[in-house]
Amino acid sequence: MVQYRINAIFLGPPGAGKGTQAELISKHYSLQHISTGELFRKESESKTAVGVKIRSIMERGELVPDEIVFEVVKKNLFFGENYNGFLLDGFPRNILQAEMLAHFLEQNNEFLSAVINFIVPKEMLVMRLLQRRFCPVCGKNYNLQTLPPKNDNLCDICNVELVKRPDDNIETITTRIEMYYTNTEPLVEYYKSKELLHEVDATGSVEHVFVLLKNLFDNGFYKNKK
Ligand code: AMP
Repeated sequence: MVQYRINAIFLGPPGAGKGTQAELISKHYSLQHISTGELFRKESESKTAVGVKIRSIMERGELVPDEIVFEVVKKNLFFGENYNGFLLDGFPRNILQAEMLAHFLEQNNEFLSAVINFIVPKEMLVMRLLQRRFCPVCGKNYNLQTLPPKNDNLCDICNVELVKRPDDNIETITTRIEMYYTNTEPLVEYYKSKELLHEVDATGSVEHVFVLLKNLFDNGFYKNKK
């Protein structure tokens, strides 16, 4: 039986490294990793009714309507005994989504352990996003500078050519960063007032940021009892 749960949110602008670290941390602590962006990309690729509706919104870098976001989260977030908790990456992205989440958790007798804010200066974000690549077969993420593949633009696992996300172009990146500062950044104060906010300097290497996060998880809120 799971005695302690880590129910955490990774907060921060696009390009801060939330997705990369969420993959590593969720594996390390056996957490259920939920990336709303990833779920939406799957909907869009499979051309489901939701996918068709949101495709152009995502291509523009705007936010998907809250009702759709919440439906997708509710469908995918469960509190099974197989996990030590969940890790949300890219959700919530505005105050309304945060309140919907709080209500949903309360209904399920769950709680939030922590919100970790990834601190990266604005100037660094564009560069990181332009260098981001992923494997179209296995989905593994790379960054040509900070997390390069072993062989020239080829996936280490599948050996196929890496590709860019369609929204990693300069126009969409600019909108996504603007969306973050307008809609999502207010969540920093929101969670600070709830005494849930922790900050991490996310400018270092993937390995370095992972160590910082691990220290936080081990020494900070990991012992929160349900
Ligand atoms: P991400 O993979 O987190 O960068 O998300 C990619 C895109 O999916 C965003 O630019 C939004 O269009 C959409 N998206 C992901 N999560 C959310 C969310 N919580 N609320 C609204 N839109 C979202």
